[in-house]
Amino acid sequence: MISIPDAEAGHVYLVGAGPGDPALLTLRAAHLLKTADVILPDDLVSDEILALSSPTALIIPVGKRCGQPRITQAGIHELLLEHSSNGSSVVRLKSGDPLVFGRAAEEIAFLREHAIPFEIVPGITAAFAVAATLETPLTDRTRASKLILATAHHAAGKLSLTPSWSGAFPNEATLVIYMPGRHFEALAQDLIASGIPPTTPCTAVSKASTPNERIHTTTLATLASADVGPAPVILLIGPAIAQQTSQQPAG
Ligand code: SAH
Repeated sequence: MISIPDAEAGHVYLVGAGPGDPALLTLRAAHLLKTADVILPDDLVSDEILALSSPTALIIPVGKRCGQPRITQAGIHELLLEHSSNGSSVVRLKSGDPLVFGRAAEEIAFLREHAIPFEIVPGITAAFAVAATLETPLTDRTRASKLILATAHHAAGKLSLTPSWSGAFPNEATLVIYMPGRHFEALAQDLIASGIPPTTPCTAVSKASTPNERIHTTTLATLASADVGPAPVILLIGPAIAQQTSQQPAG
């Protein structure tokens, strides 16, 4: 028997909810959900996961793109302070892992500044869930010695990776692009200009680990016209992805 401590009064927990399937939560995350007084979920957190919280918990969605008035990061900070200083235990629930493209730095700095006790609970990041779905190792002894988790910059409506990247992309790398946007033409051009061959395979996965998951396999050259399905979408690009797709049985 393992004993997992309950959520403590006045504490904040930055918890990773994983990619969507409740079975992919950690035991720690599930127990905190069950015992916390207040839950502040991002919009990517599934209803099935929220259903694991206590029936008496106060759930305040703080997603920033639900079509409701946008809550600001400062607004989220205020909620963390208000509820923890009232003596509630607070779970700040983020999709995937809280420390991967989760804007956790601001929240950690705020919690430290206000001397609010906190704990970070890792979760399965989308890249790892997608790799499992595709049965694709992200690293490979002969084809992919590096794994790059990246996001593109959305500047002036154009999507670009290169502002954050000086020089060519390394060879033998798997590149995972979070929040790839919808304008793949600029992204593909950018990657090809950085030295990635246009024939490099690219797999887009929409709504991974949910019943509506969609997988679309293409190449960089044809990514611009790919129909990848609704958000959230993640892109996996690289020779190790090639190895997997070429081994898939036909039919
Ligand atoms: N902290 C999260 C990432 C948040 S950024 C994590 O570790 O997974 C949000 C981006 O993550 C989305 O735009 C998408 O690129 C990716 N993502 C998250 N969940 C996903 C899912 N179920 N399927 C596909 N992509 C997902």
